[in-house]
Amino acid sequence: MKIICIGRNYSDHVNELRNEKSTSPVIFLKPDSALLPKNQPFFIPPFSDEIHHEVEIVIKINRLGKFIHQKFAHKYYNQIGIGLDMTARDLQKDLKDKGLPWEKSKAFDGSAIIGKKWINKEELDLNNLNFQLYNDGNIVQDGNTANMLWKIDELISYVSNYFTLKIGDLIFTGTPAGVGRVVPGNSLEAFLNHEKLLQLNIK
Ligand code: ZN
Repeated sequence: MKIICIGRNYSDHVNELRNEKSTSPVIFLKPDSALLPKNQPFFIPPFSDEIHHEVEIVIKINRLGKFIHQKFAHKYYNQIGIGLDMTARDLQKDLKDKGLPWEKSKAFDGSAIIGKKWINKEELDLNNLNFQLYNDGNIVQDGNTANMLWKIDELISYVSNYFTLKIGDLIFTGTPAGVGRVVPGNSLEAFLNHEKLLQLNIK
């Protein structure tokens, strides 16, 4: 499986990092080795002093597809979850400044974290999903999919023009404002529509 991540999909987050607004979705990939094994803590890697949390809605692909029309995109996924796209922001800034690819800062081991439970999309209003991240009990990110620049079905269609989607692939759909640093001892909790779906200890 592969992990496809969307960058700059909420304008409040685009503004906080002073990025330019894109005319099409920003895409990057993480390998399957980026997935943090279930129930493991996240260890701050030795190459960064500025690991940021990015809470995101995650889509699990359940059907093989390429060149998927937006109208049919809903047939390619059934489950929605929550995840963390952990980012070595200091390293990313350095790579961006040099015009180099982001992978070292975004796709390292343990940088893709998914919640313990998936929810069937039929139970949800995909254009009005509330999601939050708490760090040590304080709310740090608060998003709603109504504020996505590109909606889930648009993303699936767009991504599939470049990458064949396979069963089990994950799409991280971008983070709202409030990204910030984590330090050893932090406890992160993520909620989807007020249900806690993810808990993570930082070491
Ligand atoms: Zn992200």
